[in-house]
Formats: sequence, structure tokens, C-alpha cells
Amino acid sequence: DNRIKRIASSIRVIPDWPKPGVMFQDITTLLLDPLAFKDSIDLFVERYKDKGITVVAGVEARGFIFGPPIALAIGAKFVPMRKPNKLPGEVISEEYSLEYGTDVMEMHVGAVQSGDRVLVIDDLIATGGTLCAAIRLLERVGAEVVESACVIELPELKGRERLGDRPLFVLIKAK
Ligand code: 5GP
Repeated sequence: DNRIKRIASSIRVIPDWPKPGVMFQDITTLLLDPLAFKDSIDLFVERYKDKGITVVAGVEARGFIFGPPIALAIGAKFVPMRKPNKLPGEVISEEYSLEYGTDVMEMHVGAVQSGDRVLVIDDLIATGGTLCAAIRLLERVGAEVVESACVIELPELKGRERLGDRPLFVLIKAK
């Protein structure tokens, strides 16, 4: 698919950022190519437009870039999944483990209801810890997580295995 090629070549890899040994996949250069950005949104919209999705849940921060245009195109709500102490209303929280230490993800109470059919969006899956936390939060409020989707997967970090039998769709697998 030419669209996938265009998207892949628009992503910049920055070695040793934010620390030595990391090859950071930088999607800000994809955003500088309007055709590649549109192609990435179109591919997600084509996949999800007829799946009865009622909520697109975007993971802070780059899920806030890809999620809203998808939500608008498929006629779903957009719900932000945020870092702690950012959301002003009542929240539910989920702790998750990082390489060193833990982090917390929060969602507004009432934003997602029992019976909602949710698509979770982030830019990238590495170990899968972030997406797992998002899925747990959504399942705790009774939502059905139909699928998780990312622009990029780093297969070596085995995030897909961590998700178990929960479906994951990605546009690009990177080294
Ligand atoms: P995980 O929880 O799967 O280990 O890490 C995924 C999270 O870290 C995502 O929210 C993603 O935005 C961020 N992340 C980790 N590595 C990279 C990277 O190389 N590029 C980008 N854009 N995000 C990354």
C-alpha cells in the first residue's frame, strides 16, 4: 500500500532520545506531511467506520493528535485518557508499571458508559503497559473495548503479547 509507505517514510527516528540506546520514533514529522497525516487517519477511519464504535479514547499525549479526527469522521465521542491531576472533574485512576517505577492514568467518571463500544488510540505501542492501563480503566466502567490501534508497533518489546487476546491494529511495525 502506497499510503503505508508514505506514512513510514514520514516518521523520523531519533537515536539516543530521551536516553542512550532508545531509537525514538518521532511522529511530529508525519504531522508535517499533510498527505501522510491524512492517509493515517483515513486508514483508521476505513477500518472503524462501520464497527458501531461509540467512543474513541485517546491516550495522552499523542493519542490526542490521532484520536479526534478519527472520532469526528466516524461520528463517535472523543474521551481523553490523561496523566494524573490534569482532568478537572471526578476521575477514576489506574496505576501501571513503567521500565522504572509506576505511572497513573485517569479518565472522567461518566465520560464512558456501560455498553459503550470503544476504540483506544495511541501513536505507538512498546511494552503495551500504557494501552493495558487504558483498557483496564475502560473495562472497569463496563465499556467494551473493541480494539486498540496505533500508528507504530515496536514488535521486539512484545506489547502485543501483553495485550493477550485483546485485538491490536497497527499501521507500521518498526525495528
Ligand atoms: P508502552 O507503555 O507500550 O511501553 O509505551 C507506549 C507509550 O510510550 C505511548 O504512549 C507512546 O506515546 C510512548 N512511547 C514510547 N516510545 C516511544 C517512541 O519511540 N516514540 C513515540 N512517539 N512514543 C513512544
